[in-house]
Amino acid sequence: MEDDVFCKIIRGELPSTKIYEDDKVIVIKDANPIAKIHWLAIPKKHVLDIMEADDEMISYIFDVIRKVARENGLAEDGFRITTNIGENGGQAVKHLHFHILGGEKLPTRSQKKEH
Ligand code: 5GP
Repeated sequence: MEDDVFCKIIRGELPSTKIYEDDKVIVIKDANPIAKIHWLAIPKKHVLDIMEADDEMISYIFDVIRKVARENGLAEDGFRITTNIGENGGQAVKHLHFHILGGEKLPTRSQKKEH
C-alpha cells in the first residue's frame, strides 16, 4: 500500500475537490493553485511518473483530460498540461499526475527569467 497523498485521496483518507472520477482516473483541484484553473489528473493505480507508466495508461489519462477540458470550457481558449519528473523536474508527489492549467492567459517562456 502506497502512502503518498494522492493514494490517500484516492482511498478516501484525505479530502479533495473532484472534477471527474471513473474507475481508473480522478481529476481534482490542486490544493495550492498557480492559475485560475489548476487541476490534477491522477491515475488510481500507483505509478511513479511517465517513465514507469505504460502507453495505455497515458493514453487513457489524456482522453480524460480532453473530456474534462471540453466539458468545462477549457478547450476553447486553450490550456496547459505539465508533468514533473524526478528531482530536476521538481516532482514533489511521487505519484504520476498531470497538471491542467488554464482559465486565464498563462505566462510564456519569454515572460520568464532567462539563464
Ligand atoms: P508536483 O510538484 O509533484 O508536480 O505537484 C504536486 C502538486 O500537488 C502541487 O501542485 C501541490 O499543490 C499539489 N498537492 C499536494 N498535496 C495535495 C493535496 O493534499 N491535495 C491536493 N488537492 N493537491 C495537493
